[in-house]
Amino acid sequence: MSFVFAPPAVVRVPVVGGSAFPVHRIYCVGRNYAEHAQEMGFTGREPPFFFLKPADAVLAVADGEIGEIDYPSLTADLHHEIELVVAIGKGGSAIEVGDASTHIWGYAIGLDMTRRDLQTEMKKQGRPWCIGKAFEQSAPIGPIHPLARAGLLIQGSIELSVGGQLRQKADLKDLVWNVAETIAHLSRAWTLQPGDLIFTGTPAGVGAVVPGDLIEGRISGLGTLRLRVKG
Ligand code: MN
Repeated sequence: MSFVFAPPAVVRVPVVGGSAFPVHRIYCVGRNYAEHAQEMGFTGREPPFFFLKPADAVLAVADGEIGEIDYPSLTADLHHEIELVVAIGKGGSAIEVGDASTHIWGYAIGLDMTRRDLQTEMKKQGRPWCIGKAFEQSAPIGPIHPLARAGLLIQGSIELSVGGQLRQKADLKDLVWNVAETIAHLSRAWTLQPGDLIFTGTPAGVGAVVPGDLIEGRISGLGTLRLRVKG
């Protein structure tokens, strides 16, 4: 049977060394570094919570290139959030912490771009965050580094600068819920599938960007993700 219109293309993220990773879903962890939880008005180790972005929110930035993001509609407070992204290669549900690493295909640097003013308003009203988090181009991502090349990332610096000014700096070991624990929690709520991306949360120092800004995100072992906010 034919389609009534051409189906959308598979969303893909380039893999270091060639080929591409097909994206199924994008899961995101909220408040997963203690200092960021504090700057958002929360404290302590609360259970992890999750939200999603549509797969086609991906803005793939190839190695060595500067990606370009349009300044999105309806906001006057577009925020950067640098995050370690985990790419899932093997699905599963109720995955044990001790087995979690066998489900990881690779890692990338991602930006959980956020229309903070809209998110804040939705929070205030007890409404879903989608409009603040799940818009077009809200998931810029660098190339995926296969686990076989990168090794397990459990520590190492994660930092972001805007126009050369350091805004966010932390260590992956500061994650409230580490990657294995995050996979375990997430897979109890959803059945993970090959192609899922997990944005694991951002450190303190989130802030606004404006048209013309150059965002540079770095994670130890994963290189640099560069993104220009279009004027
Ligand atoms: Mn985030």
